Amino acid sequence: MNLKRLIRLSHQLISFILPQSCFLCGDNSINCLCSACLAELPYQNLFKNIAVNNTQVIDIQAIFPYIFPIDKLIIAAKFHQNLAVLNLLGYLMAEHLRIENRPDVLIPVPLHSKRLRQRGYNQSLELAKRIAKKTGIPLAYKICKRVKETLPQTSLSAHQRQSNIVDAFQVLELKKSWRHVVLIDDVVTTGATVTELAKLFLNLGVPRVDVWCCASH
Ligand SMILES: [Zn+2]
Repeated sequence: MNLKRLIRLSHQLISFILPQSCFLCGDNSINCLCSACLAELPYQNLFKNIAVNNTQVIDIQAIFPYIFPIDKLIIAAKFHQNLAVLNLLGYLMAEHLRIENRPDVLIPVPLHSKRLRQRGYNQSLELAKRIAKKTGIPLAYKICKRVKETLPQTSLSAHQRQSNIVDAFQVLELKKSWRHVVLIDDVVTTGATVTELAKLFLNLGVPRVDVWCCASH
């Protein structure tokens, strides 16, 4: 077991044993957010679509706008090993996503293996697990991978994001029965990442690709 993993496990153990406080307001709470903070989150499903090419469009649904305190929660879940917050976000997605057309499969946006080793988990996979569990929609997380070690999209302009992510993914396996694929991501801002991945599935003949994410602009 490496040191990072050991530190993460001990953090989890400590937060399990000691009384918890709300991550946002600091009040006593057995959950990572107290009921008041949970009730005050900016619940607002956002829908938008992005044209992938001349004929194909992907629909994007987010359960929150990417504003405070959602940005703070996502940063904690993604970069600060706060798995309790990550679990909560997955639970909220499972509860609040509006599923009108049930997809055949959920596919979390993969991390590059190096980033996965550093972080210890893929936040999109953890979100997808909660949604799969609640909805019963199958989850496939080994069928595509990130082959290019890209710069963090957050550090780049919209134009740079586009070129940074080109050829970043590879689809390893595709079931012929998949007619509708949903990609799961934590945040969609310019949409460059999910568009690049969606393009691969569309080009391989999947008729419909949509995106469900926790937050978006
Ligand atoms: Zn609170």
